[in-house]
Amino acid sequence: MKKHNFYAGPAILPQSVLQQASASIINFKELDLSILEISHRSKEFESVKDESESLVRELLEIDNDYAVLFLSGGASSQFFMVPMNLLPEHDTAHYVNTGTWSSGAIKEAKLFGNVNVIASSESDQFRHIPNQFEYPDSGAYLHITSNNTIYGSQYHWWPKGSIPLVCDMSSDIFSRKVDGKNFGLIYAGAQKNMGPAGVTLVVVKKDLLGKTGRKLPSMLDYKIHMDKGSMYNTPPVFPIYVSMLTMRWIKEMGGPEVMELRNNEKAAALYTEIDNNPCFEGTVRKQDRSHMNVVFKLKNSDHEAEFLKFCKDANCVGLQGHRSVGGFRASLYNALPLESVNVLVNVMQDFALKYA
Ligand SMILES: *Cc1c(COP(=O)(O)O)cnc(C)c1O
Repeated sequence: MKKHNFYAGPAILPQSVLQQASASIINFKELDLSILEISHRSKEFESVKDESESLVRELLEIDNDYAVLFLSGGASSQFFMVPMNLLPEHDTAHYVNTGTWSSGAIKEAKLFGNVNVIASSESDQFRHIPNQFEYPDSGAYLHITSNNTIYGSQYHWWPKGSIPLVCDMSSDIFSRKVDGKNFGLIYAGAQKNMGPAGVTLVVVKKDLLGKTGRKLPSMLDYKIHMDKGSMYNTPPVFPIYVSMLTMRWIKEMGGPEVMELRNNEKAAALYTEIDNNPCFEGTVRKQDRSHMNVVFKLKNSDHEAEFLKFCKDANCVGLQGHRSVGGFRASLYNALPLESVNVLVNVMQDFALKYA
């Protein structure tokens, strides 16, 4: 039987996607060739790339005003590519600091212009999303991290204002209905909720590009990737293909709206147990709790190893908290079935029978 996979990333993918992907490694589209051994300029891969692009447009509700790019270098490379491409040297970019990944983005942006941190939850160990910040009315953009994979907080509202909103959606893209037209730029490393590690999605409003006056190496220039249709160099062929299969699965399941309902149900089941179980407690302010990464801890941390043993015995894996935070983290990405959450809830109840 397959394990109940709660890893934070790389993370669970739909079983049907893994089956199609493995078949295509041997024989792709009856070509008698593997997807791993065909040219990225072949018409077969062109069609994978085109379908991937149109699925992104459909799932994020965006049109041709936006470029859809498939890049490499991880979401971490977007921490510097965003300011390189959008922040003129003497202008200011605004950031909200809600955790490790936002902090990383802030650090890199400082290399390219002025950075203004308009709100932060750092003094509270990132246990909430700041809710009282004024949307800046000048500057190059406002950057937020929609879901904080490590601390387990998530925006359940969107800041709205005049300057472009830039969002790191690495760990909750396609997990809920999002109107992409409200964003200037969205980026996401694929390996949380979209596909395997190795490709990063960037969706950017075309009219924001080419305005910094900065000379850029070609590989770091969104405009060049846009003009070349993400084929300036060899793109990450297999990660794009598996992401396409995953996006097809999302669409077939009913799209982001249906993902959202499923994810809400899974999160509610787990948070209810955390709140009712005498052994456990959540770490994030309730209204800001993530529906993707549920972070919790034992009231008595001496029993951590025992709890992980209970999990292991029930075939639940990936529950250890991030090394910087400790405790536990259950990631409930799109492909995780409710059944796996129910198994974890039972484990927590069994644990309480013995340790409460
Ligand atoms: C995982 C993650 C990153 C880093 O992604 P890499 O692809 O490893 O560079 C950045 N932001 C968020 C929100 C993440 O979850």
